[in-house]
This record gives sequence, structure tokens and C-alpha cells, in this order.
Amino acid sequence: MFGEDDGMLTVDGVRIDEIVQKTGTPVYVTSYGKLMENLRAYKSAFPNQRLLYAVKANYNLAILKIIQKEGFGADVFSMGELYLALLAGFKPESILFNGNSKSDEEILAGIRAGVKFSVDSLDELYTISDMAIKEGKEVEIAFRVNPDVSPETHPKIATGLKKSKFGIPWEQTVEAYRIAYELPNVIPKGIHCHIGSQILSASPFIEAINRLFDVSAEIQKIGIELEFMDIGGGLGIDYEGTGSLSKEDFSKEILSVFEKRRDEINPELELWLEPGRSIVGDTTVLITRVNSVKRAYKNFVAVDAGFNTLIRPAMYNAYHRVSVANKLNRKNEEVYTIAGPICESGDILAEDRKLPVVEKGDLIAVYDAGAYGFVMSSQYNGRPRCAEVLAKDGEFYIIREREDIADIVGKQKIPELLF
Ligand SMILES: *Cc1c(COP(=O)(O)O)cnc(C)c1O
Repeated sequence: MFGEDDGMLTVDGVRIDEIVQKTGTPVYVTSYGKLMENLRAYKSAFPNQRLLYAVKANYNLAILKIIQKEGFGADVFSMGELYLALLAGFKPESILFNGNSKSDEEILAGIRAGVKFSVDSLDELYTISDMAIKEGKEVEIAFRVNPDVSPETHPKIATGLKKSKFGIPWEQTVEAYRIAYELPNVIPKGIHCHIGSQILSASPFIEAINRLFDVSAEIQKIGIELEFMDIGGGLGIDYEGTGSLSKEDFSKEILSVFEKRRDEINPELELWLEPGRSIVGDTTVLITRVNSVKRAYKNFVAVDAGFNTLIRPAMYNAYHRVSVANKLNRKNEEVYTIAGPICESGDILAEDRKLPVVEKGDLIAVYDAGAYGFVMSSQYNGRPRCAEVLAKDGEFYIIREREDIADIVGKQKIPELLF
């Protein structure tokens, strides 16, 4: 939970000046209290549904461990995410392996681990069947369906449009299940979609649910009894501080539609969800230090985190609230643009924000940075990635050490002949 102590931002009772003294800046700081609140809100909104956390949103192991201990399953998108989920203690049967381009190596790893697959193409289906036969295993699958619905969100994160690279066009889905039904060692158990991210109304989800039920009714006629319908993740969060759809209201709206159609078509069908952003997004602040303030065409505040650390503003035009974290008790007086240290003009974290007078050495907090934050960071411009910290009950724990220059050098080699 975020608070204030004499003008200084606190996270779960820890002053952030104490944290940065230890970790340097930039640093991501996660509130254990806020994360627990989100997990519990999901569990109370969806008491009889299965919740799989979308690991890609934030796969710090400590955070995965907290989520696993609260009883969530995991949605993974690569071998690395699969490995992290297993390491954090998620049971293989509670893991769904997603992805539109799984390598043979990844498929084999998933089969050996004993996870379920969301299958994105017939090519993938045949590969899974072949490998499962060789491994002597049965693999439970769902198909990722492209339901062709268009949520109002940024085009880069709308994933269920007709022309999207994800999923099997819904018109071809029944045929895919027919093929899967006859193939050895794959068992169709579910139907899956994921329509996009940062969606702030329930209606596109309802459209997708209806589409999946239309298809499921046809699938049932082939003789397949589906056990679950997974409608993916995508519930948005309140980046702008203007209010958003609560987990509870989201649940009420979609459950009424789901339950009605389920009772008509397949009363045993379970509903699964794969939230990512709405679990971790608002749990974390990025703290970055002011290197200089410049009065130019605009008032620029140059900080030590840019799109190498948080890419969302540059990539999605995303809005993040900011504050001067060591001056929370001062009045907002001047308009500033917060710029990162990267040598590209698009490296702007926040534009035209009214803040207290900013000076070199101040700390800027960028809120709601817990989803698609650290995980999308890079070493661009030769900058080591930053640390991650968990704050809980007045204490803080470094959950990822900051990188150093050795990590920049990394696995590079200069061939002998160049010396
Ligand atoms: C990214 C993703 C999610 C999570 O999306 P959020 O918007 O973070 O909730 C869930 N399922 C799949 C298949 C995804 O690709």
C-alpha cells in the first residue's frame, strides 16, 4: 500500500529513500499488501472459477511465489516462463502453455513437464501429437480461438481481431477439434481465447464468451465434452486515476452470461481466466532519480529511467501517473516533461505534468508499473537493468539485484582473429 511519511512516498510502510540508498536508482518497488489485495479481490469475485496468472506480466520469482501460494495457476508463453512457473512451485496440471509460435524444443519441455497446451495452429497440434506418442504421454489441449471481437484498446494489444496473428479463426475451429479428436495422445479438454489487454468494459468479453459457446455447441455434436472455457486475461487497470471496472463488477457482468449459456449447453463447463495486468499492474512503482532539470522548449526533467526501464509510454503511448516522491507534501506548481536517458527523442516517460518544483537529485515515482514493466526492460544504450524490491510490513527485500557492467558484456566474444 502506498502512503506518505513527512512528504516521502512509502510502500507498505517503507520510505523509498531508504530503499534507493540500498539499491540505487532506477528501482521497481512492489507492495506486498497491494498484491495480496488484488489476489483476494480476484478470488472473491471468482470463487468457483479457475484463475491462471499470466506470468509474462511480471515473472519475478518472489512475486510468482506469492501468487502461487494464493492458489492461482499459471499461463506461460515460453520455455523460460514455464521454467520460472515450475520453479515458483506452480503444479504442472495448473499450468497452461500458450503461444502462437512454440518451438519443438518448447513443446517437448511442456509435454515432459506435464502441462496443458493452448494450441494455436494445426501444425502445432500435429507436432504435439507426434511428440506425445514418442514420450508415451497424453496431452490435454484447448484450441486458441480467434473470436473476431474488437475491444477498445491500443491496437498493439488487441489480440482477437480477425487479422490478428493469434488463434484459429472461429469458423475453422470445429474442424480443428474434429482432427484433434481423432489424433492419438492429444485430448481436447478446453476452448480458449484472449482478446486483448487493458480492456475497460465487460462487453467485448461477453461477445467472446458468446462466440465460444456457439462454437462449443458445435464441438459437442462431434462427441467432445469440453471441461473448461478459458476467456484469457485483459481486464484493464486505472492508469489515469479516473476509475475503472472493478473485478467484482467485471465478474458479475460476465458470470451472468456465462452461467446462463453454460446451463443450456454444458452444465459441467468450468470458466477459467488468465489475468496479468489487473493482478500486478498497480502493485508497483518505478522510482527514478532526477539527473538534471532543463528549461528549454519545455521544462524537461531528465531522469535515470527511460524506455530501457519502462517501455510502455514509448511503445503504447501509455499514460502513467507520476509524482515527486520526496515532495509529496508540496504544491504542484510547474509543468514538466519527464525524459529518460536514452538517445532517442521518443524516450519520454510522462508529458506536461504539473508537479512541485523539481530539482536535481529528486526522486520521481512512476505509478502502476508492475505489469509489462521490468519484464520488458532492456540493456539498450549499454545500461544495466535495475533492481526490484518487495516491501512488506515495514521491511523491504531485494528480489532482484541490479545488473552491473559485467551483465552488459554478458556472453559476448571477440573472435581471436580480430586481435
Ligand atoms: C497477455 C496474456 C494474458 C494476460 O493479459 P493481461 O492483459 O495482462 O491480463 C492472458 N492470456 C494470454 C494468452 C495472454 O497472451
